Amino acid sequence: MAGQVYFDNAATTPVDPRVAEAMQPYLAGRFGNPSSLHWAGREARESVACARRQVAGLLQTEPGEIIFTGSGTESDNLALLGVIEASGQERNHLVTSSIEHPAILETCRFLERHGVEVTSLPVDGEGVVDPDGLIKAMRPTTRLVSVMAANNVVGTLQPIHELGRIAREHGVLFHTDAVQAAGKIPVDVRTLPVDLLSLSAHKLHGPKGVGALYVREGVSLAPLVHGGGQEHGLRSATENVAGIVGLGRAAEIAAAEMADEAVRLVRLRDHLIESVTALISNTYLIGHRYLRLPGHVCLGFSGLEGEAIKLLLALDAAGVAVSSGSACSAHHAGQPSYILQAMGFDALRARGSLRVTLGRFNTEADVDLFLQVLPEAIRAMRPVTSYPAVTTKERV
Ligand code: PLP
Repeated sequence: MAGQVYFDNAATTPVDPRVAEAMQPYLAGRFGNPSSLHWAGREARESVACARRQVAGLLQTEPGEIIFTGSGTESDNLALLGVIEASGQERNHLVTSSIEHPAILETCRFLERHGVEVTSLPVDGEGVVDPDGLIKAMRPTTRLVSVMAANNVVGTLQPIHELGRIAREHGVLFHTDAVQAAGKIPVDVRTLPVDLLSLSAHKLHGPKGVGALYVREGVSLAPLVHGGGQEHGLRSATENVAGIVGLGRAAEIAAAEMADEAVRLVRLRDHLIESVTALISNTYLIGHRYLRLPGHVCLGFSGLEGEAIKLLLALDAAGVAVSSGSACSAHHAGQPSYILQAMGFDALRARGSLRVTLGRFNTEADVDLFLQVLPEAIRAMRPVTSYPAVTTKERV
């Protein structure tokens, strides 16, 4: 094996050594419970407060509007269930998009089973929600709109500013799942019309099992977890101090380095896209060419539809870690992606994507290695089916 390349940063990112260093004392000597009144508790409390300031800094907001949670999934659940529970019976309609992460979609299914009406907005062939569709979906009973900032499978960015503005004009709360976007692109809640926003530490070179929900001051939210009243009563449980410290440091680093990192990643990403589509015939980019996350590439291969898992395994054997959809696809191997189907792909093509996601620790040498091994892997597999090359028009 020539070397190992990790190109699955949308699934999770390597912990930045500076984050690990910040967490280390809280895995050993600094063990206090932030609720305790003595010196050990005080030390832990101050560390959690510092992390809250760091996360608030990333979003350009006040620390009092940040609630620490156990994951991006929990943040999404708290946003949706918490708003609906707090809103009473008379406003029970929620609008979301058809390409959300299961953390949103399954929460919507749960709410539907409890009498909440859910409208799922379609997307176009590049995975973008049409703001006019949101205007049409609004009802007098609409309580919440939840549309992700960036899609985890195809990398497309959504017009969050416009969608949030429409929600606000209708007096409706707006939540965005920014788990893929936070720390990669600027998210400034002073100018973005969002009321709630989810993020997750392990997508921005922090630890797994810790997330945050931004809750704009004045938004009423009911808790999911009841108990001792931590996190303003919205997320009871003794805080995961080491994890929270890690999230804080990861957010601080992202805030300081995001601008330069994005320029570098866009350059690598575009080099990868242009080289792959030039080197390998019948290869196409999935998602929007420009409105996409800096390090995110999603590729389709005509003639290899349905063979993405085999391609992934061939790349893995060559030391390159990529994904065929999302991390969740390990549980749904071989099934068509509902995201690609929502974008107009038929069931066969919706099984044929390869997600290649670059992050902070990837280099040009990694891209070069990928460009060496991918054509080999594809040559070994084609032709499996006799699909003709597709055009963007056909895919829509
Ligand atoms: N939302 C999006 C868009 C994601 O990509 C993910 C994880 O892949 C999540 C939510 C869930 O985050 P977590 O893994 O922290 O629960």
